[in-house]
Amino acid sequence: MDSKYIFYFGDGAAEGTAKMKDLLGGKGAGLAEMTNIGIPVPPGFTITTACCVYYYKKGVFPPALAEELELHLGRLEQSLGRRFGDLDNPLLLSVRSGARASMPGMMDTVLNIGLNDKTADGLARQMGNRRAAYDCYRRFVQMYGDVVLGLKPEKADDVDPFEEIIEEVKRARGVKLDVELAEADLNDLVARFKRAVKERTGADFPKDARDQLWGAIRSVFSSWNNARAVAYRRLNNIPDEWGTAANVQAMVFGNLGDDSGTGVCFTRDPATGAKGLYGEYLIDAQGEDVVAGVRTPRPIAQLAAEKPAIYAELDAAARRLEAHFRDLQDLEFTFERGRLWLLQTRSGKRTADAALTVAIDMVEEGVMTEKEALLTMEPEQLNHVLRPVFEKAAYDAAVKGGKVIAKGLNAGPGAAAGKVVFSAPDATAWAARGEKVILVRIETSPEDIKGMAAAEGILTARGGMTSHAALVARQMGKVCVAGCSDIVIDYKKKEFRARGGAVVKEGGEISINGTTGEVILAALPTVPSEVERVLLAGTLKPEESELYRKFARFMGWADRVRRLQVWTNADQPDQAAIAVKFGAEGIGLCRTEHMFFGGDRITAVRKMILAEDEAGRRAALDELLPMQQEDFVGLFRAMGARPVVIRTLDPPLHEFLPQEPDKIAALAKEMGVSAEKLAAKVYALHEFNPMLGLRGCRLGVIYPEITEMQARAIIGAAVVCKKDGADIRPEIMIPVVSHVNELKNQVAVVRRVAAEIFGRERVTVKYKVGTMIELPRAALTADEIARVAEFFSFGTNDLTQTTFGFSRDDAGVFLRYYLDHQVLRDDPFQTLDVAGVGALIKIAVEKGRAANTKLEVGICGEHGGDPATIEFCHYVGLNYVSCSPFRVPVARLAAAQAALEDRRSTFMPTRHESS
Ligand code: PEP
Ligand code: MG
Repeated sequence: MDSKYIFYFGDGAAEGTAKMKDLLGGKGAGLAEMTNIGIPVPPGFTITTACCVYYYKKGVFPPALAEELELHLGRLEQSLGRRFGDLDNPLLLSVRSGARASMPGMMDTVLNIGLNDKTADGLARQMGNRRAAYDCYRRFVQMYGDVVLGLKPEKADDVDPFEEIIEEVKRARGVKLDVELAEADLNDLVARFKRAVKERTGADFPKDARDQLWGAIRSVFSSWNNARAVAYRRLNNIPDEWGTAANVQAMVFGNLGDDSGTGVCFTRDPATGAKGLYGEYLIDAQGEDVVAGVRTPRPIAQLAAEKPAIYAELDAAARRLEAHFRDLQDLEFTFERGRLWLLQTRSGKRTADAALTVAIDMVEEGVMTEKEALLTMEPEQLNHVLRPVFEKAAYDAAVKGGKVIAKGLNAGPGAAAGKVVFSAPDATAWAARGEKVILVRIETSPEDIKGMAAAEGILTARGGMTSHAALVARQMGKVCVAGCSDIVIDYKKKEFRARGGAVVKEGGEISINGTTGEVILAALPTVPSEVERVLLAGTLKPEESELYRKFARFMGWADRVRRLQVWTNADQPDQAAIAVKFGAEGIGLCRTEHMFFGGDRITAVRKMILAEDEAGRRAALDELLPMQQEDFVGLFRAMGARPVVIRTLDPPLHEFLPQEPDKIAALAKEMGVSAEKLAAKVYALHEFNPMLGLRGCRLGVIYPEITEMQARAIIGAAVVCKKDGADIRPEIMIPVVSHVNELKNQVAVVRRVAAEIFGRERVTVKYKVGTMIELPRAALTADEIARVAEFFSFGTNDLTQTTFGFSRDDAGVFLRYYLDHQVLRDDPFQTLDVAGVGALIKIAVEKGRAANTKLEVGICGEHGGDPATIEFCHYVGLNYVSCSPFRVPVARLAAAQAALEDRRSTFMPTRHESS
């Protein structure tokens, strides 16, 4: 046989192991490993994901599969002394899906395969229980009819034809529960079910056991591409190419009476992390009953009283599995006539609180090492302990009640609720009178900063993950849903309309979930995070919060293993202070233009833009200088001896002027210039492609006095702090460099100013001058640039924009389509495009370091806080990643995991496998 498509498990040994998850799927690998360590598992075999991939590529099963299947079926029959399709002593099988990543409930399962009128009689004799045999038979026809023959209605709310028949029979018998149906009733169900199949499909229900088995395998493979599974994969970044495995296993029966049953349980409480089994079970039932809600399952604690021996055995197996897989497990079990069988084990999904508790407890118990514990938590999960969340009951009720009216990008994690306002000044005014507001804008601009700061949260209809709203909100720690194209905003009417028809007017109450991107039509109560209360608000002492202490200890482990430093993007002292409390080791990007909107600064900036000549510009810049210097003193003080990277002016100048005629007129009046003159200036600054126009270092080259003033302010602030005895590390960064000559030009300005100040003040401060690498040409000529720059910082927002040629402000329109239709798997503004942008980064790091061995290299684009990107940054050997203040802990954990990646046990979920 060329390839092996089937792996056997049974009789105390398996051909597979836990490490073979890619080939056997999570369930198959788990069954194999459990078999190998002596946990009681019904024997069977796994048909590999490779077979599924073949099936999808060629539309047929591999030619060798039939022979291989017969071989393994024979082995199984021999081991159990029963034969598949045998009239006297039949073997029944289950076929269950199981992909590499857990996709709970998304794909198909068929139980009790191998039954027809004759084998059912044989089963009745074998079981010594005719009723139980017919119970299996009616379950089989229903499940096979639903799953394989396609009778299950598409919409969850539509009635399953089989359920309708069951209800009819129960009504006729005057009983409430399936278990109350007699043998004859079950027999009747089978006959009626088969008639329903014939009516709907035009064909008889398949009698032949092998036909049934192949039908089930085909159906399980096909279910990889059902709409639910596809949607789940999109949401959880699971690649379509993986395919699912199919697990064929001998049936064990939980429906043989009071000494049988079935259940699901976690080895610890997945909501709190509390020790002890947590789950539920049903007596005299098969697996699907527990989840289907036909009967109300009992809490697992009751099993201890009801079946103490089974409970003890289950508990022992749970401890054993935890110790073996070194993590909390999620189990499925069945007991048949007092004998326990385990049907599945996998790492259990858990809340963030539980993840911390379990990690700490398991390390203390010696079940896992600190390093292993670090891998049990998804970095993004930390958001749940760092940011406010909605009160769970209220949130669940709102989601169930259809209150989610729109969905956008989850640009700023957390939960916020408030009244809708449509302009930044309104946000400021309403907040000043004590209202909680959500600022709703088509998109935001630098002018909106004060309003954004006053709002609880920000919702925008346009723009991606690197839009102004997204990056400013993250930096401020504001909840933000961006690029929500499900809503249409009408500023004139002061309302927005959601796709489904809901209209929200100014003052209307909404909530936004920045962790999921949901917009909810209700003001939901929020719960502050304990970590924030301890670290930032100071309203809780560390000793009062167990959760905080666990968080701090866990993060300490992360810091010990990571190699990448974590810096922050901040331009205000308060943001910097927050970031330091979250563990930031430097500022990787201070966008000076953000400072231009505080106090009177904007007026001076506008005077500078409107000036007729250099003298006029210098006069305006002189006004700005002391304010800028004061800003930098604040930042340096907040950061102490940590490095602070300050970028010279970057955005095109039109961003500092209003664009609408009424606003232009108002500003002209305020500045005492004619409206015509101001309008003419706005017109003159208009560019067709502002992102490729007069911005970044080009501004500094054309107007060196701007760079000069900023250098003066930075170095001046450094001297002030130095004189105060502070040890500070300023780094001046030149943006949007494409040619080394641009950098040389700007470096010369900075160094001249610095030398002049040091000479005058008789103090020197060590500082660096470096550049952003945010254009492909800069990356490709990084060696030339590194001979002039002391550091590189990858501006991956612009580097992505210019590598793809996708406007970062306009890409939302087509990106959503691209993602929905798999033209692209990920939003490149959110997760770094390793193949393209990543290749440029790699080239730039290699060339840069070869030319300048002391070169410090970091990343300050929004990708710097994305765990998958951080992993890449670790591998290419950057010195640090820089991200928004509230993402610092997420980045610390992601950096630690990157360092541990090769130690990640195959049984733990990897980043792609999260859900
Ligand atoms: C970048 O381009 O990645 C960057 C950090 O700069 P900005 O987002 O301010 O353009
Ligand atoms: Mg940039």
